[in-house]
This record gives sequence, structure tokens and C-alpha cells, in this order.
Amino acid sequence: MKEDAGKFLAEERQVALITGASRGIGRAVAIRLAKDGCDVVLNYAGRREAAEEVAEICSYAGAEVLLVQGDVSDPEACEDMVRQCLDRFGRLDILVNNAGINRDAILMRMSEEDFRKVIDVDLMGVFFMMKAAARTMVRSRYGRIINISSVSGLMGNAGQANYSAAKAGVVGLTKAYAREVATRGITVNAVAPGMIHTEMTEEMPAQAVEAVLQGVPAGRMGEPEDIAGAVSFLAGRETGYVTGHVLCVDGGMCM
Ligand code: NAP
Repeated sequence: MKEDAGKFLAEERQVALITGASRGIGRAVAIRLAKDGCDVVLNYAGRREAAEEVAEICSYAGAEVLLVQGDVSDPEACEDMVRQCLDRFGRLDILVNNAGINRDAILMRMSEEDFRKVIDVDLMGVFFMMKAAARTMVRSRYGRIINISSVSGLMGNAGQANYSAAKAGVVGLTKAYAREVATRGITVNAVAPGMIHTEMTEEMPAQAVEAVLQGVPAGRMGEPEDIAGAVSFLAGRETGYVTGHVLCVDGGMCM
């Protein structure tokens, strides 16, 4: 009976590092995890002011916050982010690899540079961050890694060869690493958002949005908070038996 009661005692605060936390989905995830009771490390690339605003909201929700600038396509920057997190908090429990970019064009017109750039940020960035976090998570025999993929990586999307390839790569990377660390208390899952209201989709012509929505049973775009809810579930202590999973949050687009 006493052992059972232990389950209901307050648990230690967890620390979550979220890449690309200054805007859109990353911002919503950071705020949600802060509300869930985590301390948060917020990474951004260039928009310091936007990241500071997110930091303020997270602090208001009761979280201790550390802001870290860094480009996820740079392995040393990734190592440095994890180092700063450990220096400040002494632990890293949850890693959300959310930072991402797109450089859309049909394949015939896509430059090699734009193909590589998207692979570097969207796929290599996930690899570098997971590698940087590996030692501390394996040592503590605990971790929750959530990688933000995309339905584009599952279905392919015309005009997004680079992005679809990177996001499909994220799925393979997630499953491979999930198998490697499954016995160490570390889960590695992916969330595949459909079309979500953020700056990334803001510039799409209305006609293109309409065309995509034709294929969405829910008949609407998703909100960043829809993704944050899924990440919160996968980041939970109680979700330890879910690993290598790709959770589509897409209004039914991919079923
Ligand atoms: P967004 O609004 O464009 O925000 C992108 C975020 O990533 C920003 O915080 C940005 O930081 C950061 N970032 C960009 N390049 C970076 C780099 N090299 N290093 C570190 N941070 C970098 O994008 P979003 O729509 O929220 O997308 C978030 C994730 O969801 C991405 O992986 C995206 O591919 C994925 N996704 C989005 C949708 C959608 O419909 N929106 C659908 C499927 C998947 P700064 O603000 O400092 O520039």
C-alpha cells in the first residue's frame, strides 16, 4: 500500500530541451512542457526577441528557463547546447527536435544547395542533437526524444523533394535509434504534423491551402497546440512503453 502511495508523490522536475522554440510549433511545445511542470531549454537560430517572449511565458508558467542560440546543422553548436543545459540544470530528460526549414521547388528547378540545406537542418540537425544528448541520457538510463517529422516524409509532397527526403529520413533515424536505446529507459518517437498554422505555411497561396485541405478529413488546418499535445503525451514518464512510433497529427490526412 505504501509503495503504491509513492506513485502519487510529487516527482522531480524534468528538464526539456526544445530546438526551434522561438516560433510556431516549437513555441507551443515549449509552453506546453513548461505548463506540464518541466524546466525548459529554448533553442533558437536568429530571432532572439521572439525566443525571449517564449521564455517569459514559460517562466510565468513556473518553469526555469535557459535560452540557447545555436544552429542545429552545426554539430559543435549542438554539443554546446547540451553542455549549457547540463551546466545549468545537471540533467536532460526530454529532447524535442523541432527546428526545421523548407526550400520548396519542383525537383527540376531545385538547386543542389537548397536540397543540401534542408537535409542539413531537418535531418542532420536531428542526428547531431540526439548524438549530443546520448551520453547523459544513457548514463541516467532515462530519456524521452521526440522528433518532429512531417506527413510529407510519409506521403511525399510535390515541390518538396528535399523536405520529404529529410522528413522520411527522420522517421528511419527515429526507429533505428529507438531500437538502440530501448533497454536504457529511453524512448524515441516521431510526430508527423499535417498542415499547421505557422510562419512556414503562412506564405502558401490560398489556392494551394484549399487544395491540401481537400485531402484533410477534419477540413481544417491544425494549430501548433495540436502538435504540443501529442509531444506532451510522448514526453510523459508514463509513456515509457511507446517507442519507435510515428504519431500523425494531421486531421486524418494520412490514414
Ligand atoms: P517555423 O514557424 O518556420 O519555425 C521554425 C523554427 O525553427 C524557428 O524557431 C527557427 O528559429 C528554428 N530554426 C530554423 N532553422 C534553424 C536552425 N538551423 N537551427 C536552430 N533552429 C532553427 O516552423 P514550424 O512550422 O513551427 O515548424 C516546426 C517543425 O515542424 C519543423 O521541423 C517543420 O518541418 C515541422 N512541420 C511543420 C508543419 C507545418 O505545417 N507548419 C508541418 C509538418 C512538419 P528562429 O525563429 O530563430 O529563426
